[in-house]
Amino acid sequence: MRAVLATQTGSPSRPNEDWAAIAPNALVVLDGLSAPAGDVSGCRHGTPWYVRQLGLRIMVGLPDPATTPDEALHSAIQTVANLHSGSCDLSHLGTPAAAVGILRIAENQVDHLVLADIAVLLRTVTGTRVHTDTRVDHVAQAERSAVFQHPLGTVSR
Ligand SMILES: [Zn+2]
Repeated sequence: MRAVLATQTGSPSRPNEDWAAIAPNALVVLDGLSAPAGDVSGCRHGTPWYVRQLGLRIMVGLPDPATTPDEALHSAIQTVANLHSGSCDLSHLGTPAAAVGILRIAENQVDHLVLADIAVLLRTVTGTRVHTDTRVDHVAQAERSAVFQHPLGTVSR
């Protein structure tokens, strides 16, 4: 497997909310989501902490071939949720979340998972295949349309 990582902070005034790791047979990419600047969050840890904790726990679950990427993500989400226990309100709409991309290569099999707006591209001898989560296109369409009416970097809401 050949992999290259690059990440860029979404805004110069906010910490980087991306996280990625590569192992010999696996790759995990997270794109953190958080409440807009100035809005309240139910989590005292913040999105950079969240993506670090979640990404590490996903990586821990991937080496076991009996564990699917879905199961590794599920277990990681539960474990990280428990880390907030007693200190954060995870029912708050501003609680950190993340888009997730997982790729695992076994002897004759490639497993992948995409959640939200991450794409996994696989280049094989037969060509390049793109895996995306198209469900995101159908969520909150009115709100997404309103957001895209404003140029990036403006303070308009
Ligand atoms: Zn928290």
